[in-house]
Amino acid sequence: MTKVFETISERKHEQVVYCNDPSSGLKAIIAIHSTALGPALGGCRMYPYKNEEDALVDVLRLSRGMTYKASIANLNLGGGKAVIIADPEKDKSEVLLRSFGKFVDSLNGKYITAEDVGMSVHDMEYIRMETKHVTGIKRAMGGSGDPSILTALGLYIGMQAALKKKLNILNIKGLKVGIQGLGKVGYYLCNHLKDGGAEIYGYDVDKDKLNRATEDFGLIPVSNDELLSMDLDIFSPCALGAIVNPNSIKTLKCSIIAGAANNQLEKETRDSKLLLKKGIMYVPDYVINSGGLMNVANELQGYNQEKARYQVEGIYHILMRIFDYAIANDISTLKAANHLAERRISEFVKWNHKWMK
Ligand code: NAD
Repeated sequence: MTKVFETISERKHEQVVYCNDPSSGLKAIIAIHSTALGPALGGCRMYPYKNEEDALVDVLRLSRGMTYKASIANLNLGGGKAVIIADPEKDKSEVLLRSFGKFVDSLNGKYITAEDVGMSVHDMEYIRMETKHVTGIKRAMGGSGDPSILTALGLYIGMQAALKKKLNILNIKGLKVGIQGLGKVGYYLCNHLKDGGAEIYGYDVDKDKLNRATEDFGLIPVSNDELLSMDLDIFSPCALGAIVNPNSIKTLKCSIIAGAANNQLEKETRDSKLLLKKGIMYVPDYVINSGGLMNVANELQGYNQEKARYQVEGIYHILMRIFDYAIANDISTLKAANHLAERRISEFVKWNHKWMK
């Protein structure tokens, strides 16, 4: 028991809820990292964790990440996340999802759930039957639909900010961009890059996804090794985490890394330093991929796509501020983003405290 409390205290979480319902088979953990800026919003992941400890560590790490993402995105939201310990292929059922919805509802809006790995928009509809504290519902049901569209737009806008800062280039025309992962975000990104006149290179383990992007956008298919070692203006990881590590940094020949994948750096401090030394600009993943969060957050006030797009366009200015702060303080862009996210929270807490007196 003591170990669980120690683990929770390490990352300063406000509350961790264990959800156990033998009648539906639900075993889940909801972690609320911070509600300083507002209700804790974050997706629910369904995964067959080896043991409960792994599930706890994952939900604590992910929920803390959401606090930073919401803060830097200027949203009035805190950070939370949930994990259901189950195999989405075998264990998913209406009662299991509705049971999870009941636990979410019991928190009275302190935690708001959404889709994540192993969950779908359709699953959110079952959760919605038990609680209104859920986002990522279909457009037809009054929700915000697929977040990947605005995640890709934010990614494209973030690339423009990085090009301006790093290379003083205002136009992506003729520049070489290499994309790893041509799933939902990678595909929509190709669309923007084609419109902007970029030369697009890409790789996906799934041949169909690769062929689709080749046919639709004239992408030039390459192998993964080629992608990691070719001359590129921008390398865009849109598949996996931990892809930026000492091995790949050795071979990378790009000016900028700007992708949607979460946790791209294998070890934040070590790899940020290696990139700085090599002169490669790293655009912090949780900032450049925050378009999806902005999109679902909009649902809370009644979804308005125009407003969501306007917010996503603001990623340009958020990144410029981070780049300037990093240069002024001689720190990595990731550290700069973390500092600014923490500063917004602490300034808000101080200000709010004054008004509560
Ligand atoms: P997706 O599952 O639709 O696409 C991922 C693609 O990566 C798939 O086509 C898959 O075949 C490919 N892939 C897997 N392993 C690979 C490998 N070793 N090499 C090359 N390709 C590989 O996911 P997505 O929604 O497009 O998201 C992409 C990334 O961005 C994920 O890491 C996700 O967590 C992150 N992200 C997505 C969103 C969003 O709105 N979808 C928001 C924030 C972050």
